[in-house]
Amino acid sequence: MSKLSIRDLDLADKRLFVRVDFNVPLTEDGSTITDDTRIRATLPTLRYALERNASLVLASHLGRPKGKPNPKYSLRPVEARLRELLAAEMGRNVPVFFASDCIGDPASRAAAALPPGQVLLLENLRFHAEEEANDPGFSQQLASLAQVYVNDAFGSAHRAHASTEGITHFLQPAAAGLLMEKELTYLGKALESPEKPFVAIIGGSKISGKIDVIDNLLDKVDTLVIVGGMAYTFQRALGVTTGKSLVEEDKIEVAREALAKAQAKGVQLLLPVDNVLADSFSPDANTQPWDSSINFPADWQGLDIGPKTIEKISAIVAQARTILWNGPAGVFEFPRFAVGTNAIARAIAANTAATSIIGGGDSVSAVNQAGVADKMTHISTGGGASLEFLEGKKLPGVEALTEK
Ligand code: AMP
Repeated sequence: MSKLSIRDLDLADKRLFVRVDFNVPLTEDGSTITDDTRIRATLPTLRYALERNASLVLASHLGRPKGKPNPKYSLRPVEARLRELLAAEMGRNVPVFFASDCIGDPASRAAAALPPGQVLLLENLRFHAEEEANDPGFSQQLASLAQVYVNDAFGSAHRAHASTEGITHFLQPAAAGLLMEKELTYLGKALESPEKPFVAIIGGSKISGKIDVIDNLLDKVDTLVIVGGMAYTFQRALGVTTGKSLVEEDKIEVAREALAKAQAKGVQLLLPVDNVLADSFSPDANTQPWDSSINFPADWQGLDIGPKTIEKISAIVAQARTILWNGPAGVFEFPRFAVGTNAIARAIAANTAATSIIGGGDSVSAVNQAGVADKMTHISTGGGASLEFLEGKKLPGVEALTEK
């Protein structure tokens, strides 16, 4: 990684502004955290800095409060959970304070009074429209709270916001936290110097959201496996009808171009060879197995890959040394159509010799659902950010960090 890491800095008695991703799911009323994975993911960075006697000003967004204070999106519930998790991580209580606003008096007074080894959590950055507008005045106010900037919010790095990009114009050095560094190392290595064979499995609903990823990966991989709803647009490009399956009519040509690029590059592109068809989009639809080379019956739709496809993917995955997976192989929210997705998760888990990278979003839920999360080399915390990274785009929140 060419960017400065928190490990390159002398942190003793320094006050750090740490951009974290505490955008956790909450119950409808906003009172209780339903999944604290994102808070846990940043604990190594917080621990690293606290052990070196830094004081930490933590800032995050939460939900979409649309630039105005809204108690439903307050970070207050995070304060309590953070205190518990930090105590467990450090083996002792760590004082955690809360500022009712991320700028102005509440923030600046609390930050100035913060002793080394203690933590101040700021209220939701997005209670100010200036955050997403990347307003320089707002960025400067955030910058005034600390002496060093650390970005550990990989999941927000694809957005040029005040707390991810603007602030670095006023606060240097700007370094990657340990989570950010881990994300960039694994995703970066997959794109730049993957151990071969490199297999990417791309699934999910639509080609439109992932065509740039597919296009970029075709320059890097040995095998590209296309599954999920998007496979049916490819199947149409091959001239086989797909009944009521999800198809983007305006992307059939794009699929054809991807097939041609794969052929020109000598990349093996694997599409499903069989499917589980359903007579309606519902968890208890009637189903039948169907071969991909035969036109689908008009009223049926493909909701999962079939057993022959699972076998083929498992064999390819077993031979791989680098595996990248993004997007489910079927409508895995319905247990009967989660078979293919679960099988892929288990096949990846079984290849312990490979570097396995799960690229955010639904595939992360899928490896959790299959109970194999601990078998993966790296599970990305950023859905949108990891997709943009895999497209080969520069992430503004990463670009803004200080060069080593
Ligand atoms: P994405 O957000 O593009 O990664 O897509 C994830 C969604 O794709 C999940 O909600 C799946 O239910 C959906 N999906 C996967 N396979 C299919 C399919 N064959 N038909 C319709 N939706 C699908």
